[in-house]
Amino acid sequence: MIVYLATNNPHKVEELSPLLPGVELALPRDADVDFDPVEDGADFLANSLIKARALYALVHAPVLADDSGLCVDALGGEPGIRSARYGQVEGGPKLDAADRNRLLLERMRGEAKRSCRFVCCLSLVLFDDRFFVAQETCEGVLLDSPRGSGGFGYDPVVLLPELGRSVAELSMEEKAAVSHRGRAAGRMAALLADLIAAP
Ligand code: IMP
Repeated sequence: MIVYLATNNPHKVEELSPLLPGVELALPRDADVDFDPVEDGADFLANSLIKARALYALVHAPVLADDSGLCVDALGGEPGIRSARYGQVEGGPKLDAADRNRLLLERMRGEAKRSCRFVCCLSLVLFDDRFFVAQETCEGVLLDSPRGSGGFGYDPVVLLPELGRSVAELSMEEKAAVSHRGRAAGRMAALLADLIAAP
């Protein structure tokens, strides 16, 4: 089954492909379409569906969208749905991941309450009015300084207490087993297997 992934982020393709057996993930560019939707939803679910529906309107084939981010309790859930644009000044360029992490740790300096979670909402759109969603979380604790070189985004600044390592210190397989995206993809994989067996 070919499913278009509503993203231009190659890390998400790398992470999701091994988690969805029987599914061949394709990118917007494989369909020769220009994909750049306005993500103006109020939460991960809304943005995930915006992306999935926007790509479906272009390719008219099954589409999977991921909307994800990091929510920090002491910051009222920020960066949240603004995770990719955290610290960006209106009209200015996006900060790179290292600068976003620096800014986040700076804002959290001296804060004792460091609980946070990654959230991932996956939406699968099959037709205009036929879609499925799975949203999962991965609980962590914000570190004082970055650790590890794997993964992407906020991985180096989030410690997983039960493993005693940052997400950036995990192998891809270890991250998949515990991460927000790994968990949501597990739900989606079961659903996709069911849909393939009984469309
Ligand atoms: P999206 O592409 O709008 O879903 O933005 C997601 C942003 O959230 C990314 O750019 C990262 O900054 C952050 N993010 C999402 N998932 C992860 C993850 O697994 N590790 C680290 N950062 C993540």
